[in-house]
Amino acid sequence: MTLDLDRPFLRQALLDWYATSGRTLPWRQTQDAYAIWVSEIMLQQTQVKTVIPYYQRWLTQFPTIAVLAAADQQQVLKVWQGLGYYARARNLHRAAQEIIQKFGEHFPADLEAVLALPGIGRTTAGGILSAAFNQPLPILDGNVKRVLARLIALENPPHKALSQLWQLSSQLLDPDHARDFNQALMDLGATVCTPKSPACLLCPWQPACRAYQLNRQTQLPMTETRSPLPHKQIGVAVIWNNQGLILIDRRRQEGLLGGLWEFPGGKIEPGETVEACIKREIQEELGIEIAVAIASSP
Ligand code: SF4
Repeated sequence: MTLDLDRPFLRQALLDWYATSGRTLPWRQTQDAYAIWVSEIMLQQTQVKTVIPYYQRWLTQFPTIAVLAAADQQQVLKVWQGLGYYARARNLHRAAQEIIQKFGEHFPADLEAVLALPGIGRTTAGGILSAAFNQPLPILDGNVKRVLARLIALENPPHKALSQLWQLSSQLLDPDHARDFNQALMDLGATVCTPKSPACLLCPWQPACRAYQLNRQTQLPMTETRSPLPHKQIGVAVIWNNQGLILIDRRRQEGLLGGLWEFPGGKIEPGETVEACIKREIQEELGIEIAVAIASSP
């Protein structure tokens, strides 16, 4: 792809805007790669305002990679509780242990080494290494995809043009100000070039934006077709013994909510009643026979 955008203008305009309008965020007050890594992982599927208290609690509880690596997984999951997508917490924990084994106590500054850690893809690696070490590595999260797709009036859904968007993010990146440029790009997507009502009149890239010139900013990016959310019916048992102790079990490490505790049960098979499902699941998973009484509403 040949870029015929005015790169010097786009870089300077974005950096000038960021200097006056960028957000003040706790992970921008540090260049500790560990703290920045934690923030990047939390921000993967969660909004900034939700992340902030979790980020602060996490660093109080696990102030260094070594403390995190030595923690018990249940303690890690407890601090993460409420943020969702628990694989992120398990991967942070595992990655901390790998870092301690391979690199001592310091987060690696080498892209290949970072990409080899669990839970870190290309955009997260670029986000961490540019923010912590000012390395000229591009990013391409959801916000950035939207901004770039509008900037060039991309005629495909972003997921069908990923290599083009990566190239664009890389070509636009100011190699002398990688940290600020990437942070500015994220802020532009989060606060100005928003999904539904982009504030084009406040946008530093407006003079160069193809979507704005074509008045197509609200139609772009082209929508991506999403697969429907899976819907499962499950039977769950609350089992107690004569001492009034309640039985809970722990989910397998891999998969949804891995490593967390739950009331035992499972998916209802076609044609199966809830009672039969519960009896079967408890027999299969725990090897015990139970009597099932379905609770009725008062
Ligand atoms: S001019 Fe509008 S559509 Fe274009 S990048 Fe700026 S906010 Fe987004």
